[in-house]
Amino acid sequence: KRLRPVLLIHGGAGRHAMTIAQATCLEGALAEGHRLLMAGVPALSVVEEAIRLLEGSGLFNAGRGSNHQLDGVRRMDASIMEGRELRAGAVASIEGIIHPVTAARLVMEKTAHVLLVGKSATRFANYFGLERAPRPRRSLVAQPKQLRPAAGVSQTLRLHQAIVRTGHLRAKSLGKETVGAVALDLTGTVTAGASTGGVDVMLPGRVGDTPLIGCGVYADNEAGAVSMTGLGESIIRVAVAKEIADGLASGLSPVAAANRVLRKVVERVQGAAGVLVLSPDGRCTIRHSTPHMIAGIIGPDGRAIVRDRFA
Ligand code: ASP
Repeated sequence: KRLRPVLLIHGGAGRHAMTIAQATCLEGALAEGHRLLMAGVPALSVVEEAIRLLEGSGLFNAGRGSNHQLDGVRRMDASIMEGRELRAGAVASIEGIIHPVTAARLVMEKTAHVLLVGKSATRFANYFGLERAPRPRRSLVAQPKQLRPAAGVSQTLRLHQAIVRTGHLRAKSLGKETVGAVALDLTGTVTAGASTGGVDVMLPGRVGDTPLIGCGVYADNEAGAVSMTGLGESIIRVAVAKEIADGLASGLSPVAAANRVLRKVVERVQGAAGVLVLSPDGRCTIRHSTPHMIAGIIGPDGRAIVRDRFA
């Protein structure tokens, strides 16, 4: 059987249309990923590299461009999973580095664990010498004006609850752009990865779907690869990535598997999400329940398609 390498990447699902800079960045990442895949580089490394390019760009809500939590600190989540042996690694609430996806891969390859969190995850990444992010200037930290820098739990929680009551944390508030990728390599292995700075008005310590295997990502050579973006709380409650992978394993097409679960996210938990789905035979789709999803695809012919809306 001739294998046809494929790479899909995304820069988030939400309200925002794609900027020219984001489109250029996605095109560059797709071209680089395609070059690597055609050279026989494993999907794991291609997914990591594509996500690193997006994390490093500062154009998305991941790595260099990550959101701040309500206490003004950036805490990031990332994960990666490969479909041959179902190996996975993830970090949550990691601080001060540019490439959380690489930290996730290190958890997978250097430890017996799947998920490291918080300051311990940061120390782990620093031990491996991962590139550190410069401390953001105070003036650049987008903290709500109502919060003083040293606000305690009660003040932060009250503000969070007030904003939630306005409906702000619902589907329509999604706008910042998380990143993710799925790939199929020449050996037939699929991989999924994702990296994010989270959502708006997050309490300190909030963790989304992105580092949770089966929620934000899943990869299995006997089913396919899935990478999610959208309102993490809704994605977690439906365990979306595994649910879509199970659909693929039961014989649904990528489009049918994605549509079924995205509908469930909207109808059952009033959420919103976007997804990259890739089956082990190279069929794939990009679907979203949000107005936009910034994403792209490149197949064996090397022609990249980058758009901010998919059917
Ligand atoms: N899913 C991410 C989270 O909830 C955010 C996003 O994809 O935009 O942390």
